[in-house]
Amino acid sequence: MDELKQVEINVVGSFRLAKTDILKLHDFTLFLQKEIEFLKLLNKKYQSKIITLETSFNDLQDRFGTLDSKPLKIKAPLVYFASKSSKKLHVSTCFFAKKISLKNKVQFSSKLTAFSEGYSICKCVA
Ligand SMILES: [Zn+2]
Repeated sequence: MDELKQVEINVVGSFRLAKTDILKLHDFTLFLQKEIEFLKLLNKKYQSKIITLETSFNDLQDRFGTLDSKPLKIKAPLVYFASKSSKKLHVSTCFFAKKISLKNKVQFSSKLTAFSEGYSICKCVA
C-alpha cells in the first residue's frame, strides 16, 4: 500500500514537471514568434532601403557610366514620364510613355524622385 502511494506521488510529480516544461516551451514559442515578426519588419525596411540605394546607384551609372568604361562620357539626362493613374514610370521613348494622356502625364528627371513618390518602374527603365 505504501509502495503504491509512493508510485502515485512520483507519477504526479513527473506530470507536474512535464507541465512546467510545456508551459515554458509555450512561452518561449510565443517569444520566438514575436521575434520573427520583428525580424520580418526589419527585413522589409532594409529591402526597401536596398532598392532605393540600387536605384540611386543606377542613376549615377546612367549619368557617369560604369567604373570600367574607358572615356568618362556624360550622357544627356534621361527624361522620364509617368502616368498619375497607373503610377508607373517610363523612359520618354517607351511605347507606354507615348500613350499617357496629357492630363495624366508627369515628368521626372530622376528615377529616384519618382520612386520616392511611390511610382513603380517599367521594364523600359534600365
Ligand atoms: Zn515603359
